[in-house]
Amino acid sequence: MTQIVRKIAELRILVRAWKAAGEVIGVVPTMGALHDGHLSLARAAKAECQRVIVTIFVNPKQFNNPDDLKQYPRTEEADAALLQTVGVDVIFTPVPDEVYPAGFTSTVSVGGVSEPLEGRMRPGHFDGVATVVTKLFGMTMADRGYFGQKDWQQLQVVLRLVRDLNLPITIVGCETIRETDGLAMSSRNNRLTPEGRAIAGVLYVAITAAAEDIRAGQSDRMAIREAAEKLRHAGFDRVEYIELRDAETLMPSDDPQRPRRMLAAAWLDGVRLIDNIPV
Ligand code: AMP
Repeated sequence: MTQIVRKIAELRILVRAWKAAGEVIGVVPTMGALHDGHLSLARAAKAECQRVIVTIFVNPKQFNNPDDLKQYPRTEEADAALLQTVGVDVIFTPVPDEVYPAGFTSTVSVGGVSEPLEGRMRPGHFDGVATVVTKLFGMTMADRGYFGQKDWQQLQVVLRLVRDLNLPITIVGCETIRETDGLAMSSRNNRLTPEGRAIAGVLYVAITAAAEDIRAGQSDRMAIREAAEKLRHAGFDRVEYIELRDAETLMPSDDPQRPRRMLAAAWLDGVRLIDNIPV
């Protein structure tokens, strides 16, 4: 039976008992509006841990756009039903005041990897992520934390954070789950119009083709320009970035010996879509 917990003190009681019994605890931080991408993380946690906590918290500190925060879907009942099918032990879903009580002033800020791409386009976003993730690790005392490769830069920020601060948790990066046309599943996808949804898969198709061309010897710049052209031609409103980066540092990389990642952000129907793939 999946238990819904809203208070940190209540969570602590459960976690202390599990720890005392020597059980391995996995945590899956989410903002809710769950889809198969989230469930794949919960299943991975379930396969490797005796206890699984899924956190559902729409973290106001990681939204740089108030409208995005207001419009963010909240579907607690449906989320709980889905997590029940996976056999999650606890859904931890605190209200903002529980996480950020009056007087809260601390920020966890990860340098380097959090600065380019999403960090540049969404000022303050990764500070919000790093702060809440650090707090959730503290609250859940989890041994393992599960994150999606869908948010590749976020995954690298969390890995850096855990290493830099010696947090006693192992981070697991799980593969991106996609719709049949390649569109990475996202809670924001259901804000697309039917017309937008019909072309949204082009984002994945275009970066996949660019990655293949680069592997075949085409220049990075040319391959990326063609991908951007494909998106505009398909009907995307704006391409924010398509970049080939070092997979770990997210810095520009022309060294094919190092793992590299192509990352993209583009607007369609007023919805900002992001995706990434290995190159
Ligand atoms: P969110 O609720 O968007 O904050 O996402 C919570 C977690 O689910 C993050 O670690 C995301 O990277 C992960 N996630 C979101 N979408 C997907 C997806 N399509 N495939 C795999 N993981 C995902």
